[in-house]
Amino acid sequence: MPFIDKNKKSVYRKSYYQENKKYLDEYTKNWRKQQRLLLIKEFGQKCNHCDECDPIVLDFDHIGDDGYLDKKRSRKNIIFHVKDNPSKFQLLCKNCNWKKEYWRRIMPSKSKAQAKLMSAAAHSPEFAKKVGVKQSVAKEFNEADAGTGILKVKNKKKVKK
Ligand SMILES: [Zn+2]
Repeated sequence: MPFIDKNKKSVYRKSYYQENKKYLDEYTKNWRKQQRLLLIKEFGQKCNHCDECDPIVLDFDHIGDDGYLDKKRSRKNIIFHVKDNPSKFQLLCKNCNWKKEYWRRIMPSKSKAQAKLMSAAAHSPEFAKKVGVKQSVAKEFNEADAGTGILKVKNKKKVKK
């Protein structure tokens, strides 16, 4: 049997890769592209926040923003993580993904007024629409704000009056 020695096998693999790098890289790239499209179809090929359905701008988003955990666990391409644990992901278009990231970065609320606005929007879909804040975003703010106590202080002051 050839290549019974593991080291020899790995050396052979490496040199085979180097010799056929161009072809193999192209092959992997195409395979990933194909797998990505198949997965997008499985996920319904539509952004979870808007109606965007062009796969070119659709991405797999970590619902719980815990992508760093996957990166820590393994450096594999994201399609493998999606296949391993599909319930952790949703499809978002580039726009919605960036909006989510934008809000995540500025959470929790920086001022009491903002916290109050988010709280109101979280509890009233009409108000959320009026001020142009997505209710799901407002709810996330509200949860983040609950942890900082920014709203509690406001309420205490009200009681004192
Ligand atoms: Zn979208």
